[in-house]
Amino acid sequence: MTNNIHPSIIALDGPAASGKSTLGRRLADSLGYLFFDTGIMYRAITWIALQRDLDLRDESLITILAQTAQIDICPPSKDDGRACDVVIAEKDVTWDMRDGNVEANVSVVSAYAGVRRALSEQQRRIGLRGKVVMVGRDIGTVVLPEADIKIYLDASAEERAKRRYDELIARGEQADYDEILSKVIERDRIDSTRAVAPLRPADDAVIIDSDKMDADQVFGLVLKLCLAA
Ligand code: C5P
Repeated sequence: MTNNIHPSIIALDGPAASGKSTLGRRLADSLGYLFFDTGIMYRAITWIALQRDLDLRDESLITILAQTAQIDICPPSKDDGRACDVVIAEKDVTWDMRDGNVEANVSVVSAYAGVRRALSEQQRRIGLRGKVVMVGRDIGTVVLPEADIKIYLDASAEERAKRRYDELIARGEQADYDEILSKVIERDRIDSTRAVAPLRPADDAVIIDSDKMDADQVFGLVLKLCLAA
């Protein structure tokens, strides 16, 4: 990589269900880098708040939660598609964090400035160690603007909803395409219009539209970009 101070930081941003996690994981495996999916942190805070029945509209309360919550990320204990185990208070919440209730509320929680500050600081500290593929919405713009490579992975809402639908069905869960589509659109709307760190490509990001590409093609293209950088 080109930059001697932070030689190996790959920022991967994009809207909900654009395939960032799958791509990021493969990329990290190939390069021998750490894969860090920052969405997990926002989901975990939302999950805890819902679990404790906290008022999600109470910004200071949710901010304190984000500043103090203990979230453990451990190597995967099961071969069920997970990249890691997410453990909160000794409970494996890896899939609970993907449920509809968390998805419906996570964008509200992640719009709070205090929540973002608390979580971004941790993400930045980890990212600056290098040899990392960090995935999120604001990695290239806010968390690690010095990243060596910035990828913004996009796809139409319809295509992303279809992929999410197929994923759920493959896991043996129930799914309704129209419902998934409207939730994806709503999450994108909140994520891209929030005042702090809205979802948008960094000025120097490579934008990839994956509507007409499969996962292998996207991976091949991005790996080539990384190796050439
Ligand atoms: O990527 P994922 O869908 O798991 O992210 C869940 C939510 O977390 C997003 O819809 C967004 O509201 C929030 N998020 C964020 N900034 C990030 C990563 C995720 O605001 N860097």
